Amino acid sequence: MTTVRPDTNLGPVTSDGDHERFAHYVKKGDIVRSAVEGVAVEALCGKRWIPDRDPQRFPVCPTCKEIMAHIRGR
Ligand SMILES: [Zn+2]
Repeated sequence: MTTVRPDTNLGPVTSDGDHERFAHYVKKGDIVRSAVEGVAVEALCGKRWIPDRDPQRFPVCPTCKEIMAHIRGR
């Protein structure tokens, strides 16, 4: 039996854009890099922005959620 581990190295990150308040899934490596280098991260849905240091509780971005479900469903 082979167990395929999905790429769960992702975490929700809130966006800080205008009235758009969603938590997007971003690769943790990107989050770390963003924190160190101050560069923008790219979410699963393709949104790019510079995340806040402290994620707040926002509803998960529907697009990210859907993509994540596909990743975890495999
Ligand atoms: Zn998203």
